[in-house]
Amino acid sequence: MKRNIRNYDLNDLKQEMIRIEEKPFRAEQIFKWLNQEKVMDFSEMTNLSLDLRKKLEDNYRIGTFQMEHKLVSKDGTKKYLFNLCDVENNLIETVLMKYHHGYTICISSQVGCKMGCKFCASTGIPFVRNLEAGEIVEQIIAVEREEKIRISNIVFMGIGEPLDNFENVMKAIEIINHPKGLNIGARHISISTSGLVPKIYELANRQMQCTLSISLHSSNNKTRSAMMPINQTYPIEELIKACQYYIQKTNKRISFEYALAKDNNDHEEDAKALVKLLKGMLAHVNLIPINPIEEGKYHKSTNENILNFRDYLNAHGIVATIRRELGSDIEAACGQLRRQNLSKNKR
Ligand code: SAH
Repeated sequence: MKRNIRNYDLNDLKQEMIRIEEKPFRAEQIFKWLNQEKVMDFSEMTNLSLDLRKKLEDNYRIGTFQMEHKLVSKDGTKKYLFNLCDVENNLIETVLMKYHHGYTICISSQVGCKMGCKFCASTGIPFVRNLEAGEIVEQIIAVEREEKIRISNIVFMGIGEPLDNFENVMKAIEIINHPKGLNIGARHISISTSGLVPKIYELANRQMQCTLSISLHSSNNKTRSAMMPINQTYPIEELIKACQYYIQKTNKRISFEYALAKDNNDHEEDAKALVKLLKGMLAHVNLIPINPIEEGKYHKSTNENILNFRDYLNAHGIVATIRRELGSDIEAACGQLRRQNLSKNKR
């Protein structure tokens, strides 16, 4: 297969131009055609010579996705099933949500996931591969083209663990963030992680301006390890230490995700432990009523418990909000995405 030209950031494209014996300034024109005009064919790049267009056509392809399905929720949330059109016809899911401040897209970073969180629908479905930078970016471009909209916020909260696909995610962010690329400010991009501690240090050292979300879900190692096997490798103390380093380095607030499950992590003593853990940190807590998955043993907390939990945190100096649930009727809510049971040609 020809190389996917979407995988390149502006610097890479300059190198590519040199490689194919073209002037490096062409890179910027091509980069804009790809990411600002969002063209799908080299023939549309009308400020390039016919020869160059032909050369590009012979050497590269522009993405590959095919939209297999689109589901629309009664709340307006949309879920897309994309066929990556790779050798295995792998499928990934992407979700678009409309908020009063604009559109937020929830994108996938891997085909499958290795983390095995017990409450997540991606669990039990084998990991296949990392998404390439171009495949991460193409989710945004495909949805913007389909809906004729401009997306303002990006969350890496779809399928996969973004920090387990570090370099490709960083490259994708470079393309998304670049003023001549998608031009979406770093502050409008959130990376969510189950807690890959060494990668949190790396992010901090890169001074990334994105928002970091930590999927915490419990302040107790026993409960957290039962929910998230990654906690056995990087327990809460190490995770918090990495978060403190991140805050100190970037001066940015961290968002802690906490999915409330009935009688598992939703009692007052859990709230108390969370306050103790996060006290004094530049942090915000996002409470999510857990979405039960079929094979899971976790059940949604009662509304009363959710409100009490939030009120306890707020009364004790921790800013906490309850995340509005969107798209649950089309299985597009938190943790409901899967890469489909099998890739398309095996169904
Ligand atoms: N691997 C990354 C990003 C993908 S998950 C991470 O772990 O953060 C995105 C968010 O959805 C995470 O906070 C995750 O813990 C949460 N989530 C997963 N399954 C869920 C479920 N069933 N109910 C509520 N939130 C869930």
